[in-house]
Amino acid sequence: MGRKIQAAESMNCFACRSEMLDEGRTSHVMERDDRLVVVRDAPALICRQCGEAYFENDVALALYEQAEKLLTEGEDVEIVKYAA
Ligand SMILES: [Zn+2]
Repeated sequence: MGRKIQAAESMNCFACRSEMLDEGRTSHVMERDDRLVVVRDAPALICRQCGEAYFENDVALALYEQAEKLLTEGEDVEIVKYAA
């Protein structure tokens, strides 16, 4: 029986292959047409070596939904805090 391991600890950085990913917070930027949305303080795994940030699936989904709403209904530039 194979076990699927998707735990964050077993993940390598896709950019530099480092195994040193720290839990942290980062800003996620989305642009569309003339609109810009920045979602700050999103929980992420951040590569200690190159700074690349990775979001877990549920965080990525929440980020996407939050940004999508602002890209549709918000001001030209929106800077918000991450809300799970
Ligand atoms: Zn890296």
